[in-house]
Amino acid sequence: MESDNYNDPAVMGGCSVPVRVNRKSKPDPTIVDVNGIRFGSKEVVIIAGPCSVENHEQLMETAKAVKSAGGMILRGGAFKPRSSPYNFQGLGEEGLKLLREARMKTGLPIVTEVMDTRMVELISGYTDILQIGSRNMQNYPLLKEVGMLRKPVLLKRGMMATIEEFLLAAEYILNQGNEQVILCERGIRTFETTTRNTLDLSAVPMLKHLSHLPVIIDPSHGTGHRWMVPPMAKAAVAAGADGLIMEVHYKPEEALCDGHQSLSPDEFTRLMIDLKKIAQAVGRDIC
Ligand code: PEP
Ligand code: MN
Repeated sequence: MESDNYNDPAVMGGCSVPVRVNRKSKPDPTIVDVNGIRFGSKEVVIIAGPCSVENHEQLMETAKAVKSAGGMILRGGAFKPRSSPYNFQGLGEEGLKLLREARMKTGLPIVTEVMDTRMVELISGYTDILQIGSRNMQNYPLLKEVGMLRKPVLLKRGMMATIEEFLLAAEYILNQGNEQVILCERGIRTFETTTRNTLDLSAVPMLKHLSHLPVIIDPSHGTGHRWMVPPMAKAAVAAGADGLIMEVHYKPEEALCDGHQSLSPDEFTRLMIDLKKIAQAVGRDIC
């Protein structure tokens, strides 16, 4: 590709979009296929599950609830990027084994986070999608490492990253030859304190305008409040998001991490019914 495309002045808002993620270099949307579940297609993909894998019962019960409500992919952190070193850090490889068992029992593909280049090989042996968390969006060695795989990557927007920085981070992955990247807006830091982050829903149309990559929304970390997840999830689908990633826990009040923003199985089930109606209204499907 021509290197002078890198700073194409014709792009919106002074943001220069790097060449490989740029919609101009590839007008058709990129479809990221995970076992037949297609991000970037007409289908809106629903990912749900606990913030962290905590134990056998918690994961299996939550996974069953996600599956029976119509969730398509199971999330769950085994290696957790906690702000405090004294908080639960995840079960590590034991958590990956539980995720593998949950996939076997439910048929749901798995997404889990990788925080460290040294863990890429281990984690990619267990998971269907590798998640790069907000705190690691600009961890360039990690981006290059997952770029060398041929496995889908869910890249979360850094909490202080501009759209341009976000797209440049994705470019690192594509530049290594891995084009299976799903962009995830999960809220940014602003002066506002009533929400955990400020969920930037305008990132959906903007990213889809600038790039061919699929875009999903995380209303759980985006708001930090369980009761705000349904309205923001619905708004995201109405705004054209290709999917959602949401925290669901079989007993949110007992969660070791992020219970306050996790939906109960009943709340998730009710939300799925509403999301299907919204998807249909905007010409999308939730299967
Ligand atoms: C997560 O999804 O588990 C997570 C830690 O999110 P973020 O990286 O967006 O904070
Ligand atoms: Mn969480």
